[in-house]
Amino acid sequence: MLAKTPSCVECGLPWGAPAFRHEDEAPLYWSDTGLLCSVSCATQHFDRRREEGTFAPIPADCPIDL
Ligand SMILES: [Zn+2]
Repeated sequence: MLAKTPSCVECGLPWGAPAFRHEDEAPLYWSDTGLLCSVSCATQHFDRRREEGTFAPIPADCPIDL
């Protein structure tokens, strides 16, 4: 059970919304700061992280316990 319902860190779309892209119970996109709902939010997120210089090149562990 999740402590709180996660949502997309880019657009705020809640986990479980029809537009939130996931594979069964597992998210498809995330960073070290949270989940991302779609490839477009992931692209936007990582582009901004690169601009800010906070991009982490090492894949983060999935933030959800499955
Ligand atoms: Zn999103």
